[in-house]
Amino acid sequence: METHSALYQQGQQRLAALRQLPARQDQSLLERMQQYGISRRDFMKWSASVTALLALPLPFSNLVAEAAELADRVPLVWLHMAECTGCSESLTRADTPDLDTLIFDHISLEYHETLMAAAGWQADENLEHALEHYKGNYLLAIEGAVPTANNGAFLTVGCKGHTGLQSVREAAEGAAAIISVGTCASFGGVQAAAPNPTGAKGVHEVIDKTVINLGGCPPSEKNIVGTLMYFVMFGRLPALDMYNRPKWAYGARVHDNCERRGHFDSGEFVEQFSDDNAKNGYCLYKMGCKGPYTYNNCPTERFNSHVSWPVLAGHGCIGCSEPNFWDDMADFEKPLGRQLLHGLDATADTVGAVILGAAAIGIGAHAVASLFVGSKEE
Ligand code: SF4
Ligand code: SF4
Repeated sequence: METHSALYQQGQQRLAALRQLPARQDQSLLERMQQYGISRRDFMKWSASVTALLALPLPFSNLVAEAAELADRVPLVWLHMAECTGCSESLTRADTPDLDTLIFDHISLEYHETLMAAAGWQADENLEHALEHYKGNYLLAIEGAVPTANNGAFLTVGCKGHTGLQSVREAAEGAAAIISVGTCASFGGVQAAAPNPTGAKGVHEVIDKTVINLGGCPPSEKNIVGTLMYFVMFGRLPALDMYNRPKWAYGARVHDNCERRGHFDSGEFVEQFSDDNAKNGYCLYKMGCKGPYTYNNCPTERFNSHVSWPVLAGHGCIGCSEPNFWDDMADFEKPLGRQLLHGLDATADTVGAVILGAAAIGIGAHAVASLFVGSKEE
């Protein structure tokens, strides 16, 4: 297993190499922060929180801070496939710019169909230029599923009428690392729900390179920025789970960190959305919560500047970061009503399960299978 000091050294070497490259933005990160009234103290607090998010020891926060400042040395190409653009909005629609959104502004975004000014032929040229000029060095982020039926004809992009399938394969060839942003790019999402007429697939199914999957509909901006920061800092992918999701974000079930968990363990459940148990914040399992089967850090990281997350707001988790959740987790407002998910089950969370009388909640497929599959990197 790699030690933290070896990883720290690797980060130092990577950042020293990035520092030699020319800045690709007119403004430094510190100038951007000043413009939006973000203090150095806020920045150091943010660096410490990203360090904790990435499950790294506190001394790494120096590296995180430096990596944030050097993010404009790393070219990022962002492609859109079949999707709703909600993942990009998760990052860019903050009510006030915070450091997560500033980092996204600061990284060297070479191509992004929603955010760039170019259109038509110029947009196509920009993409070709970025793929050629930064070959072997750019980070490729893909949002949306890839339609594959009829040779990909259900999605064409740009003046040349290239299919999404072609664009992904071309862009993947010269990428230093590839990130599927959101459940559609990771696992096909709603486009791949039965009967999936367009043959929509996750990116990792159409190329033969490792793809890091950021499941979520949308994934939180923290998980997107944390992944970008990890790549800037170390130039490689973090440890991944069996679905190629970063372990630091998807290593625990929603159920494990849910503030309603005590009620689950005590057998206290909401029976109707408007009942007194709902008002008392009881467990939403009987209202269809899929937190016991879902791996994500929503309860700890929350959304909208850490204000809330779905279960706190009163609705169960619908399992949006899991493969095939549109089919496998439905009906979203009813318990799964079966004991096994993907044919796997093991240690039951016995208290709630026994009280439910159905032994319905097993440890999720991911955790059990991880025992056998192992991680990409220890
Ligand atoms: S079933 Fe849902 S609401 Fe209940 S404790 Fe688990 S995650 Fe929380
Ligand atoms: S609580 Fe569940 S459904 Fe909601 S964002 Fe998190 S993983 Fe997705």
